[in-house]
Amino acid sequence: MRIVRPAAAHLKDLQPYDPKYLPARVYLNASESPYGMPEKAREKFMRMLADEPIHRYPDPLANDLRKALADKHALSPGCIVIGNGGDELLFNLCLAYGGKGRSLLIAPPTFSSYQTDALLTYTTLIEVPRMESVDSEGTLRLGVDEAAILECASSGNIDLIMLASPNNPTGDCLSRNFINELLEATDAVVLIDQAYIEFADPCYDAMPLLKDHANLAILRTFSKAYGLAGMRIGYLAANTEIANELRKVRQPYSVNTVSALAALAALGEEAEVQRTVDNMITDRVLLTHDVGPRGVGLPVTESEANFVLVKVPGAQEVWQRLYDEYGILVRNFSALPGLTDCLRVSIGTPEENTEFLQALRNILK
Ligand code: PMP
Repeated sequence: MRIVRPAAAHLKDLQPYDPKYLPARVYLNASESPYGMPEKAREKFMRMLADEPIHRYPDPLANDLRKALADKHALSPGCIVIGNGGDELLFNLCLAYGGKGRSLLIAPPTFSSYQTDALLTYTTLIEVPRMESVDSEGTLRLGVDEAAILECASSGNIDLIMLASPNNPTGDCLSRNFINELLEATDAVVLIDQAYIEFADPCYDAMPLLKDHANLAILRTFSKAYGLAGMRIGYLAANTEIANELRKVRQPYSVNTVSALAALAALGEEAEVQRTVDNMITDRVLLTHDVGPRGVGLPVTESEANFVLVKVPGAQEVWQRLYDEYGILVRNFSALPGLTDCLRVSIGTPEENTEFLQALRNILK
């Protein structure tokens, strides 16, 4: 046959996910860890790998890792689901709790996968936009509209809610009070995506809410603080009812043996992970100051994640010149609704952050 019939109609206007990757000298575009896995964890991982029977299929549920995570969070292993990155778990949540005639509430601008996953699973997307302002201190604020979300959620027509805290790309967190109120206002499954929580103030950790709310699910990943983005491994913590539904829709062997071992080894070196995270938080505060009103003079978010969002006039051109003239790749969100003139800059090593700052100063001169 020289022709092929069209794909499913709902794919017609969908663009494949594009991480906007380009080869660069300095990568400040993907909010990865610039340090990678702790050295001791890497050595342990290599030793464990040498003994692993990789000609066998993996344990479908990655039970050793599940058990270690259950211990870490003082939960039962039945409350933990491991996934091929947080991405897989987000999609699986839409498969399990979305679908035709069902709806997902999100607060854009936020992580783009929520929208794609809704589309792929025929789930109706309900958007409650964030509100943008720059306060008198020059801080860029893009917080959620709490009242509007509560009103929408309590209508009874929402099946699933996905809110990131810290949010990507705005970096702000949801207060525990608000999450509590939301969980009380609806029986929808409320996914609090905490991919960046290790970089945030501990008061934003949503785990303590799990014991009181059957409809809460929390997403975590090894891609950021643990430096394992290339391994594709994340997990979800929720009550066993939600965890069991997710087990029904998952691909049986989506979590491979190697990635599960790497995550287990990294979990064994929490102190080292914490040292790196602490350094990155210090560097984030520095970069925020240096880019902000008392430094370069730009509105910048007060981020709780390992990136900052900067509003810079002519962002597209600034992005291009950072790349062309300095080999520095940052993420350009300036064409997206609610993010006019915004660039997201990941926290790199201190040297990389200094290079970025110097380049930005030169370009804006
Ligand atoms: N949630 C948010 C808010 C993210 O920004 C990301 C990664 N960009 C993910 C989830 C997924 O991360 P991963 O699949 O690497 O675990």
